[in-house]
Amino acid sequence: MNKAVFLDRDGVINRRRSDYVKSLDELEIFPSVQEGISKLRKSGFLVIVITNQSVINRGIINLEKLNEIHSKIQKKLREKDTKIDKFYFCPHRPDEKCDCRKPKSGLIIQAINDFSINPSESWMIGDSLTDIQAGENAGCNTLLVKEQDAFEKIVDAIQSSNNEGQTSK
Ligand SMILES: [Mg+2]
Ligand SMILES: [Zn+2]
Repeated sequence: MNKAVFLDRDGVINRRRSDYVKSLDELEIFPSVQEGISKLRKSGFLVIVITNQSVINRGIINLEKLNEIHSKIQKKLREKDTKIDKFYFCPHRPDEKCDCRKPKSGLIIQAINDFSINPSESWMIGDSLTDIQAGENAGCNTLLVKEQDAFEKIVDAIQSSNNEGQTSK
C-alpha cells in the first residue's frame, strides 16, 4: 500500500484568486512549493492534487487551458527533479450536485483506488474547511493551512508526525 499527500491547489500550491486562475499569467506558484514537494516525495509520499475547478463547467476556461495550467506547475517542479503524481479535478458547478466536488470525497476515493493508497497513512491538506471534510470522509489525516503558510510548514508537520508515529487518528 502506498501513502500520499493530497493537496488542494488554489491557496496551497498557487495563490488563490476570487475570479479563478484563468491563464498562465494568473498562475502564481508559491516559492516554497518546489522544495516542499521534493521533500514529501523523498519521504515516500505520492503527491496528488485534489482540486475543485468549477471554472470548467461555468464555461470560463476550457479543459485545454486547465491542462496548460497544470503542465506549467509540473514544468516548475521538474526544475527540482520532482513532480505531482496526478491532478484530479472536479469540473462541476455546485448546482450539479456531483460526488466529486469537495467536501465530497469522490476524487480522493478515486485516487486511493487508482494508486492503492492507505488513507490512514495519508494526508489531505488545504486552505478550506471543505478540504478537511473531504479528507476526513476519506479516512485521511488532515491539515488546514493558511495561504500565507510556507509550504515548508506542511513538510515539517507531516515529517514530525511520522517520526512520532502519529500517522493515524
Ligand atoms: Mg483552496
Ligand atoms: Zn464533480
